[in-house]
Amino acid sequence: MSEIYNVIIVGSGPAGWTAAVYTARAGLRPLVLAGSLEAGGALMTTTEVENFPGWPEGILGPELMEKMQEQAEKFGARTEYEDAVELSLTDPVKIVKTADNEYRAKTVILALGSAYRKLNVPGETELSGKGVSYCATCDGFFFKNREIGIVGGGDSAVTEALFLARFGKTVHVIHRRDALRASKVLADRLLGTKNVVMHWNSKVQSINGTDELTSVTLENTLTQERSDLPLDGLFIAIGHSPRSGIVSSQVETDEAGYIKTAAPTTATNLPGVFACGDVVDHNYRQAVTAAGAGCAAALDAQAFLASLP
Ligand code: NAP
Repeated sequence: MSEIYNVIIVGSGPAGWTAAVYTARAGLRPLVLAGSLEAGGALMTTTEVENFPGWPEGILGPELMEKMQEQAEKFGARTEYEDAVELSLTDPVKIVKTADNEYRAKTVILALGSAYRKLNVPGETELSGKGVSYCATCDGFFFKNREIGIVGGGDSAVTEALFLARFGKTVHVIHRRDALRASKVLADRLLGTKNVVMHWNSKVQSINGTDELTSVTLENTLTQERSDLPLDGLFIAIGHSPRSGIVSSQVETDEAGYIKTAAPTTATNLPGVFACGDVVDHNYRQAVTAAGAGCAAALDAQAFLASLP
C-alpha cells in the first residue's frame, strides 16, 4: 500500500503553492500535483506582474510561480508534474489518480483554477501576450495613452473597461448586443466616461497582426457590415469557467460551477476537502487573493488533521 499523505494539493497556481508553503512549513510534507502541461496556472500566460506586494520592480508571472514552488519545496513539499484524472473524496482516506499513479491522503486541497473563456476567432491564440490579454488588472498598464479594445458586456468587461479608461487614450467596448449585461450602476458609469466608445451589436471576426496586434475586424450583427478597428491592446472579458468538472459530482458547486465553501473558511461539503483560488472565487481573481485563500486552506487542513483521533 502506498503512503498516506497528510495533504495532497491539486493545482499549482498561487493558491496551490501558497497552500504548499504553509502545509510544508507546518511539517505536513504535502504532495503537489502540479499538472503535466499547465503547471503554474493563469500566471504562466501573464507577462509582468506589477501588483504582487513585495515586488516593486515587478516580476514575470512564471518567475513568481517558480519562486513560490522553490519556497514550498525548501520546506519539504513534494511536486509531481502529473494531472489528477480521477478523485475519490468522500471517504476518510481520499484517493487521487493520475495517468500513472494513485495517491492517498487524509486531506485534499483543491486549487484547480479557472479558465478564461475564449472568443475562438482567428489570431486570438497567436497574438495572446502580444497585445491580446485576458486580464486588464495584470496587463492594462502597458497600454497607457494607447487605443484599447475590450470585448464583453458583463460586470467583468465593464469593471475592466472603467479601469482601462483611467490610462488608455480611448477604450473601445465591443459588445455583441445593444444592452449591457453589467449592473446598472457600473453600466451608467461606463456610458458616462468620456474616453469610452461603445461598439454595439458587434462581433469580433478576427484579431489581426503579425508579431503584435494591429487591429480587429468587427461584424455588425444587424447589417453584417464588416469594418477594421485599429488597436494597440485587446482585452477579452467574456467570463470564466471554473475548472471544477473533475470533482463536481462529489463536491458542491454553484450554478456557475464554482466550488462552494463555508466562508470564511475554505471547507467544502466534504470533510477533509478544502478549496481555494479561482475555482472558488467569482469576484477578485487576483494572484494575491488566491495566495491568501491558499494560506487559509492550509490552515484549515492543518486544523482538520489536528482534530483527527
Ligand atoms: P458574465 O456575466 O457571464 O458576462 C459575460 C459577457 O461576455 C456577457 O456580456 C456576454 O454577452 C459576453 N459574451 C459571452 N460569450 C461571448 C462570446 N463568445 N462572444 C462575445 N461576447 C460574449 O461574466 P463576467 O462579466 O465575467 O461576470 C461573472 C460573474 O462575476 C457575474 O456574476 C458578475 O456579476 C460577477 N462580477 C462582478 C463584478 C462586480 O460586481 N464589480 C465584477 C466582475 C464580475 P451577453 O450579454 O450577450 O450574454
